Amino acid sequence: MKLWSSAPPISVTPMALPTVLLHDHLDGGLRPATILDLADELGYDALPETEVGALAKWFDQSESGSLETYLDAFVHTIAVMQTGAALERIAYEAVLDLSADGVAYAEIRFCPALHTQRGLSHAQVVEAISSGMRLGEAETGLKWGLIIDALRQHPWSEEMARVAIGHRGSGVVGFDIAGPEATNPPERHLLACRLVRESGLRLTIHAGEAAGRNGVRYIAAAIDKCGAERLGHGLEIIDDCDVSDGEIVDLGAVARRVRDRQIPLEMCPASNLATNRLTPEQHPIGALYRAGFNITLSTDNRLMSNTSMSSEFDFARSHHGFAIGDLALTTRRSMEAAFCDRDTKAALWEEVLAPAYEDAGAAVETNWI
Ligand SMILES: [Zn+2]
Repeated sequence: MKLWSSAPPISVTPMALPTVLLHDHLDGGLRPATILDLADELGYDALPETEVGALAKWFDQSESGSLETYLDAFVHTIAVMQTGAALERIAYEAVLDLSADGVAYAEIRFCPALHTQRGLSHAQVVEAISSGMRLGEAETGLKWGLIIDALRQHPWSEEMARVAIGHRGSGVVGFDIAGPEATNPPERHLLACRLVRESGLRLTIHAGEAAGRNGVRYIAAAIDKCGAERLGHGLEIIDDCDVSDGEIVDLGAVARRVRDRQIPLEMCPASNLATNRLTPEQHPIGALYRAGFNITLSTDNRLMSNTSMSSEFDFARSHHGFAIGDLALTTRRSMEAAFCDRDTKAALWEEVLAPAYEDAGAAVETNWI
């Protein structure tokens, strides 16, 4: 069943390799044309542009230079994500766009508390998004899971944790702490993290994304105090490494724990370049990968970072020398780190992912363990 006309999304490049996406925010991946449609329907008249091309350009925050400025753009996407029909449509279109880009499995994250301005309950928010994901899956075959976000600058993380725990039947597979990092350490949300862990739900935390001198400390807090199984971004782990001529030659105590425990880093290069004023070559993904860290690749916010999985792969290939075997290993690690069940992983790897990478020339283990 198709509910909405699916105008072709912008900036999606079909690619041959199927991918696994672990870190993608629903409110950062809307189609500009859909934002205009929904603003019209909802009577929201504060959009900065009224023409689709100009609006897409406005949302591209590649030059924002700081996480705080980058996050400002979300006020306009959140504004049109306030009805069940809008959320269902946005989730459905996200699945179509990801599938068109080659994504075989996606974990989509959102914060229910941001979508209650017009009276939706947290449960209604989750159900509407879950419904849109199911419609998209029925049309494309893309497999998915939902991650519920708490926002680190707000005190209601326990409430979001309970929403997550209560909606496992709707496809929720994990919990995350997101938002402006600089002065908001993850251990402020210890109780929410404990509730999640004790429920058996999975936990990832944005840490070392753009915390400056606190980055390494926040990464340590996320894994040691909060019990995060994956790290959102984690790129500031490079600040705990000795680097010489572009290669890591020694590790501090926190970097050693992250590497030795193989804690997956959900790296989102296009987003990181925008929020940390990095040139492509300054991004630490290549050095971390070669030093044995568990690197995965994601998009973060496809609209604000004007990116896609295929362009993140192109980035790793063209700026950091990832060959087909490296992309296959990154995809295998992403599938291993996913919060879905083992049967889903085995089926995707053996039937979709491994054959494609093998066909492309990578030497891969074709069986799941
Ligand atoms: Zn993120």
